[in-house]
This record gives sequence, C-alpha cells and structure tokens, in this order.
Amino acid sequence: MKYDYDLFVIGAGSGGVRAARIASLAGARVAIAEEYRIGGTCVIRGCVPKKLLVYGAEFAQHFADAKGYGWSADNVRFDWATLRDNVQREVTRLSSIYSSNLAKAGVTTFQERAEVVGAHRVKLLKSGSEISAQRLLVATGGTPYLPEGLPGVELGITSNEAFHLPALPKRVVILGGGYIALEFANIFSGLGSEVRIVHRSDRLLRGFDDDIRAHMQIELERAGVLLSMNTTIAKIAANGDARRVTLSNGTVIDADVVLYAIGRDPKTDGLGLESAGVQTSPDGAVIVNEFSQTSVESIYAIGDVTNRMNLTPVAIRDGHAFADTVYNDRPTPVDHRSVPSAVFGRPPIGAVGLTEADARRSHEAVDIYRTNFRPMRTAFIGGEQRTLMKLVVDAKTDQLLGVHVAGTDAPEMIQLAAVAVKAGITKKQWDSTVALHPTAAEELVLMREKVAAPGSAS
Ligand SMILES: Cc1cc2nc3c(=O)[nH]c(=O)nc-3n(C[C@H](O)[C@H](O)[C@H](O)COP(=O)(O)OP(=O)(O)OC[C@H]3O[C@@H](n4cnc5c(N)ncnc54)[C@H](O)[C@@H]3O)c2cc1C
Repeated sequence: MKYDYDLFVIGAGSGGVRAARIASLAGARVAIAEEYRIGGTCVIRGCVPKKLLVYGAEFAQHFADAKGYGWSADNVRFDWATLRDNVQREVTRLSSIYSSNLAKAGVTTFQERAEVVGAHRVKLLKSGSEISAQRLLVATGGTPYLPEGLPGVELGITSNEAFHLPALPKRVVILGGGYIALEFANIFSGLGSEVRIVHRSDRLLRGFDDDIRAHMQIELERAGVLLSMNTTIAKIAANGDARRVTLSNGTVIDADVVLYAIGRDPKTDGLGLESAGVQTSPDGAVIVNEFSQTSVESIYAIGDVTNRMNLTPVAIRDGHAFADTVYNDRPTPVDHRSVPSAVFGRPPIGAVGLTEADARRSHEAVDIYRTNFRPMRTAFIGGEQRTLMKLVVDAKTDQLLGVHVAGTDAPEMIQLAAVAVKAGITKKQWDSTVALHPTAAEELVLMREKVAAPGSAS
C-alpha cells in the first residue's frame, strides 16, 4: 500500500466522527485523531451540556408559575454541584458512545493532537510518529475568542470553563451579545445569579431578524437580566475571590464570574496547513469549495473550521456529504440554505430563512406578517412575557422566505417550519393549514394581515 490509511481525520467532533464512520463503512481505511475528548465541542462543551443546563434553569420559572395553577412549591432549593456533575456524567456517557461507534465502524482512533506536515502526511504529537494518508480531512472546529489586550483578561472564563464552575456564582458579567452570551445569561439568571450582559453594540444577536433582536432586549430586561449596551469591559482586577470589572463608561461592577462570549475562531493555529499549501482566510478559516475540498487536492475541511455555518447538524451534513462524494461515489455538494437555528435564551428563539433585512436586500418586494401576544400558559397567571412571531414573504411570488419566533418552545416550532421554508411553499399554502388549537404555534398559520409600513416595529 502506498499510504498507511486512505483517510486521516483530524478532530473527532460532530463533523469528523460522521465523516470517518461513513468513509470507513464504505470500505476506506480510516484513522481519526482527537486531542481532547471524543465527541467534540457539541457533546463535550457545547450544545448538549448547555441544553441540559438550560433545562435545569427552567425549573425556577416552573416553580414560580406553579402557584397560579394551585401548587405550592415553597422552600425549593437548587444544588449546582448536583446539576453540574449529572451533566458531566451524561457528557462522559455520550463521549464513550461516540468512541464505540467509531470502533464499531472500523475506524482507528488516536487520542492525541495531529498536525499536517504535507499534502498526505500528519504528525502525531504525543507519539511523535508520522502517518501518511491518501486524503486528509481537517475537522478541528473552533475555539473561544478572548478579548486580547484587556487588562486582567486572565481573570475571566469562556464557555469551556463555565460547565465546571466549583459553585454557582452570585453575580455574573457576560461580555458579548451573541447566542452563547444569551444562553448563559438564561442559564445563570434562571439558576438565581444576578446577570449583566455587557455588549459593545446597541443591539443583541447580530444576524437575527431585527424585530426578534428588539423583542429579546425587552424580554431579557423583563426577566431581570441587566444590559449594558454600547459598552465594553475596560479592565478586570482581582478583588479577593471576586472580580472588579471596570466598564468602558467608567462604571465599576463586582462579579464572581466574568464570562467572555464574544465569538469563536476556526481552530487552525499551529495546525501546519501552510506546510501543505492549504489556503485560509484572514480569520484562519480553511477555504473550501462546495465539496469541502481545499486548495490542495488531497485535503478537505468541514464544520466550524471552515466558518461557513457553525452548527452541529451542518458539520454532520458536511462530513456526510464529503464521505458520500469521495467514498460512496455520490457527489454531494453541501447545502447551507434554509438551515434552522435556535437560541436557547430567555425566551428561546427559533429562526429559519431570510430575515426581513436580508429579504429586502435580495428581493424587489417583501411582505411582512407579525404577531406579538401573551401566551395562554403564562398570561393565565398574570405573566407579562410575550411571544413574537414573524413571517417574511416574497411579495411577487408569495414564497415564504423566513419564519422567526421568540417565545416558549420556539426552537421546537421552527424545526417543522423549516421543512416548509426549505420546500419553498407559498404563504397561501402555509395559510391553508388548519390551526392546531389551543397552542401557541397555531398563531403561525393565523397571520393574515400584512404589517402596514415596511420594517415598522410592533
Ligand atoms: C457553548 C456552545 C453552545 C453551542 N450550542 C449549539 C447548539 O445549540 N446547536 C448547534 O447546532 N451548535 C451549537 N454549538 C456549535 C457546535 O458545537 C459546533 O458547530 C460543532 O461542534 C462543530 O462541529 P465540528 O466537527 O466542526 O467541530 P468540533 O465539534 O469543535 O470538533 C473539533 C474537534 O477537533 C479537536 N481538535 C482540534 N484540533 C485538533 C488537532 N490538531 N488534533 C486533534 N484533534 C483536534 C477538538 O478537540 C474537537 O474535539 C455550540 C457551541 C458552543 C461553544
């Protein structure tokens, strides 16, 4: 044999594991290297542990609401160590399932860092050995971005460490306004911490629909999350075990934890891509074509390291499409259109398709439908929380271009709405679906009135 393996995958996360398994099951000789824990970001320190913490945090609201429904839920107590350790136990269980699935598929696993040393070669750092493969697949994901140059930067943590805190912090300052910032704000505020979001812009959640962004700001403040907008952190100093945070507007805040959630970088530092001539963009992302092939014929890249659409199901699809293209004789370009996304925030968000702003840029005429209401379950007990739903429609063809929801169960609703958007149905077809009563979701098919003025807020 000319090469040790047909395929060498670097990174056993969502994308790498899927690609390795499918290629191996198709008959390729496959090896995979993982420098941390099998399963990658999503399983070990992303989607899964995050969602479990969100579930844990939601109980506070359930207990509060229970009274209005006749239950007494007095003297309830929360124990952070129990939740944290149970979540970590589940993460370990899932990681071992990933490992055994790789083994069952016949993939050889190396539990160490790998670096590229040529178009067909990788070096394993622990053992120092070099391995050759006909093809290399870079699936190294991303890594949290740190506010470089911030005095006291080492006194803050990232989402990586947030899952392992020794105790529930009383006061949390979160730097950033993206989905990870809002999800941790939901988690910590739900569990009883005082949470302040510090964000450099005047609006949260760049990339989401503007109405949803405005709605989230209102609802977060209603839920008691403190917002310092148009602000950043100027410095952090130790104050005993606590942190003294000075904001750019001069305000000084004491916190127990400062969490940076200001974005993630593709993980290509020191990976040796340049040794093989692989082109990367200025932010370090590996540049690929629609078949995930890099500028070097034998090297492919998938998932977050390509910085195309940083979601687990996308990395999995990328990996599967690569394996089908190369090893199953089924050329499959990646398709990143109409991918649904969620923010498990307070309230949660689900979105698919174009935002109103995007649609106005790409389409001649756009119709907007919007509703904003107090859902029955919480309105019944006097809750002020509101749900926002919005449809973006091509006024010329009547095609449904986008669906955006912020409110309880929004991510669950959007998975199904995504089927309709992906299928390219018209608003008329959407409306022909009879409502399911009584649900909050029924409002989605009952929006008949166009919003009068384009872009006007409700
Ligand atoms: C806090 C948080 C919450 C998230 N929540 C969601 C969510 O709700 N829904 C969703 O869809 N997505 C979510 N994501 C994003 C999701 O985790 C990623 O999109 C997904 O994991 C990307 O998969 P990947 O295979 O590209 O990379 P990863 O899963 O990051 O896997 C890359 C792997 O490569 C390993 N590695 C890196 N370099 C090397 C090397 N040189 N040698 C060997 N191994 C290496 C890493 O240790 C890692 O295990 C979240 C992310 C975070 C951080």
